[in-house]
Amino acid sequence: MRKKVIAGNWKMNFTPTKAEEFAQEMKNKINTDAVDVVICVPYVNLQSVQKVFEGTHIKVGAQNMHYMDDGAYTGEISGLMLGDMGVPYVIIGHSERRERFGETDTTINLKTLKALEHGITPIICVGESQKQRKSGRTENVLRKQIAFALDELSASDVTKVVIAYEPIWAIGTGEVATSKQANEACAFIRGQIHKRFGDSAAACVRILYGGSVTDETANELFSMSDIDGGLIGGASVVPSFEKVVHFG
Ligand code: PEP
Repeated sequence: MRKKVIAGNWKMNFTPTKAEEFAQEMKNKINTDAVDVVICVPYVNLQSVQKVFEGTHIKVGAQNMHYMDDGAYTGEISGLMLGDMGVPYVIIGHSERRERFGETDTTINLKTLKALEHGITPIICVGESQKQRKSGRTENVLRKQIAFALDELSASDVTKVVIAYEPIWAIGTGEVATSKQANEACAFIRGQIHKRFGDSAAACVRILYGGSVTDETANELFSMSDIDGGLIGGASVVPSFEKVVHFG
């Protein structure tokens, strides 16, 4: 039985002051152990939000990291730094980073390997564009993204990663995938993992759906056989995030 993960992605929202206030508001409402709750915040909010959630079940994650430990990479944050701060999760390869910041399948793989090296659970994002879906290329896109992202991982490493299926056309658009579409894609990803890493990795790996999930759509999506929770953007920075968590 896979424990569900409900991960919030605050993106570039909340000043440190606002972040602390909102975290305080969420603290008691979403403090459940029935699912793994992760809130991925901007770097500048990591420490203060960690402090607010100290002693609760809520984990604080980052939204990106560099694949080198240190060096001349102005403006970057490394997995070594996040690990030292006790950050247990990091989003890797979000489509906004792929599309706007030049993230590639290769850097996503390097970041995944580095996160694991530092004991950080990578939440690896994959997903097709509208054009790719319409032209019947969804499975090819997912096959390639998964193959690259998990290159050089062992079957045991794969049990430690979380994958988020996030169709680009559904992110921040209000257009949520149907539960059937989302489940088919997550099952396809699990099938790819099964082929390459075997029964146990496929049975253990947690695969989330992300893309305009709200408290109105969460229940049905999270009850599907191959969907082990959600990566939630817009609906994680509003008070109703509490309801999304409780559908997990
Ligand atoms: C995301 O940022 O990963 C995401 C799924 O955003 P939204 O829920 O707003 O579509």
